[in-house]
Amino acid sequence: MIEENRRVVIIGGGITGLSAAYYLQKESKEKNVNIEITLIEASNRLGGKIQTIRKNGFTIERGPDSFLARKQSAGRLVKEVGLEDQLIHNSTGQAYILLKGELHPMPEGAVMGIPTKLSPFVTTGLFSPIGKMRAAADLILPASKKTGDDQSLGSFFRRRLGDEVVDNLIEPLLSGIYAGDIDKLSLEATFPQFQQVEEKYRSLILGMKQSSPKQQSASSQKKKGMFQTLKGGLQTLVDALEEKLDEVAFLKAVKVEKIEKTNVEHYRLSLSNGSIIECDSVVVATPHHATANLIPSADYLSPLQKMKSTTVATVAMAFDESALKNDIDGTGFVVSRNNDYTITACTWTHKKWPHTTPEGKVILRCYVGRSGEEAIVDQSDEEIKKVVLDDLNKIMEITTDPEFTIITRWREAMPQYAVGHKKMLREVNERLAKDMPGIYIAGSSFEGVGLPDCINSGEAAVKAILTRWNKQTIEA
Ligand SMILES: Cc1cc2nc3c(=O)[nH]c(=O)nc-3n(C[C@H](O)[C@H](O)[C@H](O)COP(=O)(O)OP(=O)(O)OC[C@H]3O[C@@H](n4cnc5c(N)ncnc54)[C@H](O)[C@@H]3O)c2cc1C
Repeated sequence: MIEENRRVVIIGGGITGLSAAYYLQKESKEKNVNIEITLIEASNRLGGKIQTIRKNGFTIERGPDSFLARKQSAGRLVKEVGLEDQLIHNSTGQAYILLKGELHPMPEGAVMGIPTKLSPFVTTGLFSPIGKMRAAADLILPASKKTGDDQSLGSFFRRRLGDEVVDNLIEPLLSGIYAGDIDKLSLEATFPQFQQVEEKYRSLILGMKQSSPKQQSASSQKKKGMFQTLKGGLQTLVDALEEKLDEVAFLKAVKVEKIEKTNVEHYRLSLSNGSIIECDSVVVATPHHATANLIPSADYLSPLQKMKSTTVATVAMAFDESALKNDIDGTGFVVSRNNDYTITACTWTHKKWPHTTPEGKVILRCYVGRSGEEAIVDQSDEEIKKVVLDDLNKIMEITTDPEFTIITRWREAMPQYAVGHKKMLREVNERLAKDMPGIYIAGSSFEGVGLPDCINSGEAAVKAILTRWNKQTIEA
């Protein structure tokens, strides 16, 4: 039972900070505990990377456009803020991989690129006969020795399935999530389940086949779509959260510059407007470089300074449907590095999310920039538009200019979980807990980049705060 009044500051008004604020306020209301909550956001708006705009009847996401339905925290939060009736699943359809200038249908049964069905894999033009034979070696290869060490996604998949499957299928798919370098990203921090499959079944192909949903449920799942969003755009979740947070004091357009410890139980925050705030606990829900800068005294946060992020841009182009001379049936494609293309992915948003687009119109949302290919993002809007249109023209024969284009640059926005990320994070958290108990780091830089992961991380920070308070009360 927490008896005293407590003061918590949340730094960062992205989905992580907002979720932390929401679950802390909920606790305060349900348990009738007096918790003073302040959320400080550097920009003049809440939502961070979530940004929806509406234009000429279109709903366009500048950043994330949806979340994985199977990770339940996002759907749960949506329901809690009263937006359940706004939840919508994506329309399903054929997805493609662009390889050497040609679109190849995603082989049926491929789970993150791992084949679970034989015939689509045998007939696909994505791999040469030798590449297919190499991938089939997974069926007989022994499991790797259990060392407990992390490894890169690339080395793991290359060993099991060979280079072709990795370069032509797995890499472009993963690139869509991390925009990263598959040979540097940590297996343990991104997809530990694949290592578990290898440990349990030895063969990835056999293991994924066994552990994937059976035929019947797979097809019903397919109809529904794996992703969810909100009819009015993800910003509606941000707006609903802001409205629900009636006991939270918001400070917008104010940056936290420094966090210092005043004594064991207390922290002092220096703000960009010259004011000082004192509090018992802080949830730091900012990207990792900002997080490390906030506590200059903590040299053990230097691994966060070294952590890399990738720069990308989203480019949404609206057309009349007559502009697409070659309208391909499907929902979009990802682009393998073995191509003379600049775009890295394209969603046919009007097909995947029909509610976003007026009748007779089309919206194509492309990505440019990924690890090693980020320079394009520094080009002018005109240049980016030209390059993207040239690429789209090669596939869909688009010769007219878009009705409008919205380019959003996301600099250093995609955190890269390098090999050893989990270990680094454990060490940072241990040192932080000893040096500055009551300060918690959360957000997309640490335990997952997806919106549901960020929500979980905000909620986990709240649980940690409450556990600490309860412990203090018992000990007192
Ligand atoms: C282009 C793009 C597309 C994506 N697509 C998807 C998708 O479809 N589905 C999905 O699940 N995920 C997607 N993601 C990932 C997801 O959007 C992010 O991981 C998530 O939104 C991050 O939320 P966050 O609150 O942790 O950080 P942010 O949204 O970055 O929020 C951090 C906030 O902290 C503030 N801040 C920073 N420093 C300070 C300071 N010193 N003082 C005060 N405030 C500060 C910033 O202004 C910002 O508002 C995408 C990401 C990008 C960039």
